[in-house]
Amino acid sequence: MEKLPCILTIAGSDSGGGAGIQADIKAISMLGGYAASVITALTAQNTAAVTGIHAPSPKFVALQLRTVIEDIRVDAAKTGMLFSEPIIKAIAPILSRKTFPLVVDPVCVATSGSRLLKEDAVEAMKQLIFPHADLLTPNLPEAELFTGLRINDREDVFKAADLLLDMGPDAVLIKGGHSDSLAITDWYVAKGAEPIPFMQRRVDTSATHGTGCTLSSAIATGLGQGMEVGAAIKRAQAYLNLGLRAGYPLGEGGGPPNHLA
Ligand code: PLP
Repeated sequence: MEKLPCILTIAGSDSGGGAGIQADIKAISMLGGYAASVITALTAQNTAAVTGIHAPSPKFVALQLRTVIEDIRVDAAKTGMLFSEPIIKAIAPILSRKTFPLVVDPVCVATSGSRLLKEDAVEAMKQLIFPHADLLTPNLPEAELFTGLRINDREDVFKAADLLLDMGPDAVLIKGGHSDSLAITDWYVAKGAEPIPFMQRRVDTSATHGTGCTLSSAIATGLGQGMEVGAAIKRAQAYLNLGLRAGYPLGEGGGPPNHLA
């Protein structure tokens, strides 16, 4: 039996199944990876709202991470909801010794409005997690939050990318899905290189719950399979696009992409 590349997700659980760890495991599995998961927080959540968050002790989050890494060869990993400064402080030293590519999706606020990263954890995220990222994948509001910039045009995107690169990741992918243009451009900028656009047609759907989680997991899966980062981004966009086209309303709020598309 062929061994699947192991893709580790370090993220929060979404009880509604649309975002977070659940989206990650679906994307990783559908794209041919074996998913391991370190759970940073439990959210009581459906498509409309996050009604509560319960986090394990930072020590226990670190124990999950050490225990997985000690036994299982991880080929690539991603982080999503890291929730609090103590959790970030507990996992950062372990990530600093990592031997695999890491995609950091700097999840801050759910579309429904709930904070998934506490306000006082933003600095820790920048200082302790960003430096270990091979690829950082903020959307436009996240890029604004971490840089303090207001992003109105392409030049602002490049300025934000430079500021984010100064925080230590090897490359950033600033995702344009929150802009109001019909064509979405995700800008990939690696240290010392020209920006590269990754374009896609916007899908007219409300089934966007968990898109960021899905994209970052799909990219990590590609990297774990040995794909070049550009190819991994393209395949991840195509995977997400198919899922968005086949998404359907699941509850009161926006449904998730359909991973079986
Ligand atoms: N809930 C969890 C646990 C997440 O990790 C994420 C990821 O961003 C979300 C919710 C966000 O969901 P949405 O895509 O609706 O903003």
